[in-house]
Amino acid sequence: MLSKEQLRYWKESVDKIIKEHPLKFIQLEVTRACNLNCIHCGSPSEGTNFKEQLSREEIKKTLEKIATEIIDPNYFNHLMFVGGEPFSRRDLIDIIQDTSKIQVNGRRVYTNTQIQTNGTYLGDNPKLLDKLKELGITGFGISIDGLEKTHNLFRRGKDVFRKTYSAAQEAIARGFSVSISTVANQSNISELPVLSNLIRDELKPNFWRIMLLDPIGRARLDKNYLLSPEQVKKIIGFIYKEHVEHVKEVYQEGRGTKIELGCGGWCGEQLEGMIRPYLWHCISGISMLGIMYDGAIGGCTNISRDFIEGNIRTDDITKVWNDRFEKFREFDWKKIDECQDCKEFEFCDGGPMHYRLGDRKMIFCLYQTLENDMDYRGMATNEVLKTKAGN
Ligand code: SF4
Ligand code: SF4
Repeated sequence: MLSKEQLRYWKESVDKIIKEHPLKFIQLEVTRACNLNCIHCGSPSEGTNFKEQLSREEIKKTLEKIATEIIDPNYFNHLMFVGGEPFSRRDLIDIIQDTSKIQVNGRRVYTNTQIQTNGTYLGDNPKLLDKLKELGITGFGISIDGLEKTHNLFRRGKDVFRKTYSAAQEAIARGFSVSISTVANQSNISELPVLSNLIRDELKPNFWRIMLLDPIGRARLDKNYLLSPEQVKKIIGFIYKEHVEHVKEVYQEGRGTKIELGCGGWCGEQLEGMIRPYLWHCISGISMLGIMYDGAIGGCTNISRDFIEGNIRTDDITKVWNDRFEKFREFDWKKIDECQDCKEFEFCDGGPMHYRLGDRKMIFCLYQTLENDMDYRGMATNEVLKTKAGN
């Protein structure tokens, strides 16, 4: 458990970052198109107007502008192309090429550029990895959501697991940084220990990030996959055990797979630091900028459309980042319902932005689920939840 001094020190550092909000990560949703139709997709193509998709030229100009006006190279960490499935875009290679050439004062800006993918295109075309390496791609986020049968069912495609796994193997063999993400849900909880042997002991990526299935996107419609409080506790318990048994060594020795809970929210002093090697705070709009497929600007690409603060086609993105992101950097507006009197608010600042809706309501809290059995399944209805899929 963390000491009061550790918590105070961490809180001061977070407050400083919030105040200065140096841009560290960009998520750029290059498309909403996808070759799969996954059950849990948070960026579904339904409700998407594909005619609105950003052009290659718009993406290039925007990244140039951000490089010149917003990025401080001393802080900037990485640009991630996300989707949909980024490889669904025929001009993805051109976009990557344009991005790799962007310079400020003779120095390349986007030197750490990664792609979040379902892995199937790369599984079918492993030689593409060599080309991507030449163009400066440094890593991939690749999704594996269970053992073969479960993954294929969840991703609703034949042979998807084999292609995805092979893509990850090929990328690791070529020295890319690979982060495997797994969306924990009712169908794969019992497989996590075996999946751990496969991912941690055989595949050996740099990271294995386990996420909780969120009641947003398509998943909000399918209560068969949503998690009960007991199941959430089981998943957190599994990650905790992995940390105690393996992850500490990985950090000490500097090699092996780092396992962590991805973006689930603050989980209290007892567990923070034990299920990931840092203390959680949502970075949306603080050190993360999200640009959606149609140019909408937000703090990250996973948030509700209710928190879109501009569009690159009509607004100056630098002004949006500097002047319109108060909702991401000041948190008193979140003090309603469970958050109102929560003793954790001081550290948590009202949880992940992707769990908030425009009426300020929160759809899930990890801490309350662990402490008080908060159950989001009853809240997951069409009427209550708006997702970023619609406009
Ligand atoms: S909104 Fe969610 S996905 Fe985005 S940075 Fe915050 S916790 Fe992560
Ligand atoms: S109730 Fe609100 S402040 Fe408390 S832990 Fe949950 S999200 Fe954070």
